[in-house]
Amino acid sequence: MSINTHLQFLQTIGSKKPKTINNQVASCPFCQVDQLENILVEKGSIILLKNKFPTLKDTFQTVLIETDDCQSEFSLYPKEHLYRLMDFAVSQWLQMSKSGEYQSVLLFKNHGPLSGGTIRHPHMQIVGLKYVDYRENIKENDFVGVEIASKRSVEFNISSEPRMGFYEYNVNLTNLEDLSIMADYIQMAAHYILNHNRFKCESYNLFFYQLHNRISCKIIPRYATTPLFIGYSIPQVSNDLDGTVERIKDIYHI
Ligand SMILES: [Zn+2]
Repeated sequence: MSINTHLQFLQTIGSKKPKTINNQVASCPFCQVDQLENILVEKGSIILLKNKFPTLKDTFQTVLIETDDCQSEFSLYPKEHLYRLMDFAVSQWLQMSKSGEYQSVLLFKNHGPLSGGTIRHPHMQIVGLKYVDYRENIKENDFVGVEIASKRSVEFNISSEPRMGFYEYNVNLTNLEDLSIMADYIQMAAHYILNHNRFKCESYNLFFYQLHNRISCKIIPRYATTPLFIGYSIPQVSNDLDGTVERIKDIYHI
């Protein structure tokens, strides 16, 4: 096994992790702020802390609690909170990258039962990888697509060559000063997925990437993954990208 291609999942820690995503009764660990341990940085209701259940070998796993409102959601935040959160998340992520301690650093978010997440409370994760560089699995074409909107240095599109399928939204930014525009487009994509998607969808992921001269975010609606992708790594793309672009433009007046 190569340490540069696979992360090792630590099974004994994984089996102790609490799950609240499908069980409303279990008490939420992120609501009990006075019980939180190993807090790294705090800004109002936004808290970055060490992950209590670090399941991945050779990584530094952190959790970024987005708000003190357990039932809220990224797509619902008032703009002021959205911008504060994105500014916090991206600056902590870039800072960890610049530390030089990691081969690469992930910033991502799981929402909903099919997203791979275990805790319902809105949160993201920043994970430093000691030996793995995620960029080796990334292609430039992963981020190209049919444009939905653009403003200043930010482009919002729908992938014409999705990594997995069928719909993947990308937000590409080249100037960090435009981070709030990026935040607006990401929030729009998340809101569209949860409320206006052609097929009912309760789950999505956000994935952030640091590339040569820009930052990109992928917003991916999640369903049961297609067998063609699982078995053969063949991605699929919808033949109605243009229709989806028009729908989003209509709904959000962009
Ligand atoms: Zn909670």
